[in-house]
Amino acid sequence: MIRTTQVNVPRGMIDLGVGQPDFELLPVDLLRRAAARRLADGDRGFLNYGYEQGDGHFRLALADFLERHYRQPVAASSLMTTAGTSQALDLICTCFTRPGDTVFVEEPTYFLALRIFADRGLQVASVPTDENGLQVDALETLLAEQRPAFLYTVPTFHNPTGITLPAGRRERLLALSREHEFLVVADEVYQLLYYAKEPPQPLATFAGSENVLSLGTFSKILAPGLRLGWIHTSPSLLAPLVESGLLASGGGLNPFTSALVQVVLAEGWLDQHVAKLQATYGSRLATMDAALKAGLGDAVEFLTPRGGFFFWVKLPEGLAATAFRETARRNHVDFRPGTLFSGAGGCQPYLRLCFAFYDEAQIGAGVRRLGQALDEFMSLRRSTPR
Ligand code: PMP
Repeated sequence: MIRTTQVNVPRGMIDLGVGQPDFELLPVDLLRRAAARRLADGDRGFLNYGYEQGDGHFRLALADFLERHYRQPVAASSLMTTAGTSQALDLICTCFTRPGDTVFVEEPTYFLALRIFADRGLQVASVPTDENGLQVDALETLLAEQRPAFLYTVPTFHNPTGITLPAGRRERLLALSREHEFLVVADEVYQLLYYAKEPPQPLATFAGSENVLSLGTFSKILAPGLRLGWIHTSPSLLAPLVESGLLASGGGLNPFTSALVQVVLAEGWLDQHVAKLQATYGSRLATMDAALKAGLGDAVEFLTPRGGFFFWVKLPEGLAATAFRETARRNHVDFRPGTLFSGAGGCQPYLRLCFAFYDEAQIGAGVRRLGQALDEFMSLRRSTPR
């Protein structure tokens, strides 16, 4: 088989672990229109090496889009174009860390950020979270012993927990970053994917956020294959990134893609597309919520998320998600076990479920299979002498 995409779900399986947009929601028509317009306008600049910080017209269009959505001022000069959040994280590691340094992460955290940090030879120290996200008191205690190269946080609709850090904790986090002089890398890829109340504004738009790098991406609001995103930060933190060898040699990132997305932004098509995603994902979230309550309700615990892609579900005490996974797969349903997201060897009873990848009928069917699998798993355990 010739592979073309990262996701590879076995036939017949509903893999609620896949944390990616639904193929059906990838906007081919919109990008066809943008490409036709851009390729007809006679400009060739975007086919040459790009300006290191990212095409100025693209950044102006992006700043305008973000200002309207954040309802906060965003200067084009505070934005740098990236090839997505993963690449931004890697570049931040290049510019602001050395192998052996320690970065602070949330427990749990986005598992593939852990992979990027491991690739860079970084140590991680985990800061606990609760139902309101990062525990800033615990962070303060840790800071008394150690200063990290940076703190990595997913403050809004967290992957995997779905939790959002309230404004008060954001302010305390920023006060700590100034007092203890450490960088905050805020991975805010789900910021615009809210389905009820708007979340607090991104960290880089707060007063006193001079130590913050906010990372945004088109992966969740347009298409991951574009490999396009941005870093929003202060001029002093932008300088080392923009002056890095990567950009000196290769020029600014993705000038061709950003030239197409500039049309999408300027024409207001992204506003329409985000509104469509909010409606679609909002309904899928409600379907998963109802299905979990109906099919697994008494056995599991979870908080209903208000945005993003994920439910973080806790199995009955003493059950390990990795063991349950075998029974789930036999029932043709899969998920991501919680241990993947732990930098501290924890989260055994948790599983992450995504409601973005499948339509409502498949979400309903997947959760029903999960319920059957859990019944089976629990009765198996009851009948096995220990
Ligand atoms: N950060 C988080 C928290 C994510 O959930 C994801 C997507 N799974 C990414 C980063 C990757 O983003 P990108 O496609 O922009 O590299």
